[in-house]
Amino acid sequence: MEPSRESARRERPSWDEYFMRIAHEVATRSTCPRLAVGAVIVRDKRILTTGYNGSPSGMPHCDEVGCLIRIVDGRESCQRTLHAEQNALIQAAYHGVSVGNASIYCTHQPCLLCVKMIMNAGIEEIYYAGGYPDPLARELATEGGLRMVKYEAPE
Ligand SMILES: [Zn+2]
Ligand SMILES: [Zn+2]
Repeated sequence: MEPSRESARRERPSWDEYFMRIAHEVATRSTCPRLAVGAVIVRDKRILTTGYNGSPSGMPHCDEVGCLIRIVDGRESCQRTLHAEQNALIQAAYHGVSVGNASIYCTHQPCLLCVKMIMNAGIEEIYYAGGYPDPLARELATEGGLRMVKYEAPE
């Protein structure tokens, strides 16, 4: 029997799911073994730039020479890398792409510094999938009118 047109149709992901999946794919290029983070900047359902956490270009990577751990705000963090969100913003600067009124999809909740940078780049909303809860970053985002939405993956 011929499958009906309806059942033969592939199930398409929503836009949010699509961009979040891409953010997770981008994260696989991370060079820091502590945490793999990905970010995708989107406007009008089109990808503008992507970023993952890693060393500045031309510098040795954590997975070659080890992480550069310092205690920041009472927490161990790797100082060798630029964050995924920062690299996505830098890529926009490198290519001369405006990110005003865009959205950013992040595999993890952005840190305080990233939230401030995202805010000043004119990005309007952050979708984040997972961990790294930073109440101060959330508080600041709310104060600055930056929407921060926790993305829940479909079952
Ligand atoms: Zn590292
Ligand atoms: Zn950050």
